[in-house]
Amino acid sequence: MNEKDILSEQSKLTPADLTRQLRQHLDSLRAAGVYWLPAEPPQAGGGSDGAVPIANASGPSPADDREQRRHELTVLAERVSGCQRCTELVVSRSRTVFGVGPLDAELCFVGEAPGATEDQRGEPFVGEAGQLLNRIIAACGMKREDVYICNICKCRPPGNRQPTAQEAGNCREYLERQLELVRPKFICALGACAAQNLLGTSQSIGKLRGRFHDYKGIPVLCTYHPAFLLPGRSPHKKRDVWEDMKKLLARMGRPVPGR
Ligand code: SF4
Repeated sequence: MNEKDILSEQSKLTPADLTRQLRQHLDSLRAAGVYWLPAEPPQAGGGSDGAVPIANASGPSPADDREQRRHELTVLAERVSGCQRCTELVVSRSRTVFGVGPLDAELCFVGEAPGATEDQRGEPFVGEAGQLLNRIIAACGMKREDVYICNICKCRPPGNRQPTAQEAGNCREYLERQLELVRPKFICALGACAAQNLLGTSQSIGKLRGRFHDYKGIPVLCTYHPAFLLPGRSPHKKRDVWEDMKKLLARMGRPVPGR
């Protein structure tokens, strides 16, 4: 959808539509941990998210750099919460689900799209698959709050269908900027949809998993999505996921916790 289409769609909105969108927008911001908004519009010469260029020729200090990235991530989450690019998802979502975790996380998990629970809570991987992801993270000797977690698509597709190529493409800019700002040292792509979209390939997850790929210089390990491992689907694939995670731990220089 181009800008002209978006403007044309928006001109058809009723006051009730606008109120619903505003409520969604504020809910999404709260869920992404945003409790304030910049009072001023982006400055001329600033970045696309209103970031002010840094004048110091020697570059910002590490603390200033982190503060700047934290601010830009907040502004990005705010932009995403008002995003109208995917017509169907804008209507079906309760709120956008941006991502959680610390800046400079050693590891970032990238999934497909929010499900029903995530859509309600505004946080990725908090449903049944999320509980399993938490156990995988714990089995690796880490805590959920140590890692960054996000999705390819920031809005829940209706009926939990996969995001279309166009929806994933619409959301790509946000994911790329998010990863640029968070700066994870390693990425773990969960499931075929996340792996294929992140890496720009159509290879199956069976072929992609268990080895390292590259995303802009960041090593990426692909494995099965936790939802695929739940009872009634393919729980026997947990063994493969654990093998994948052991490879990831080895590459990260971390010990494999005793089982
Ligand atoms: S999925 Fe991404 S691009 Fe589409 S409406 Fe949601 S935030 Fe916007």
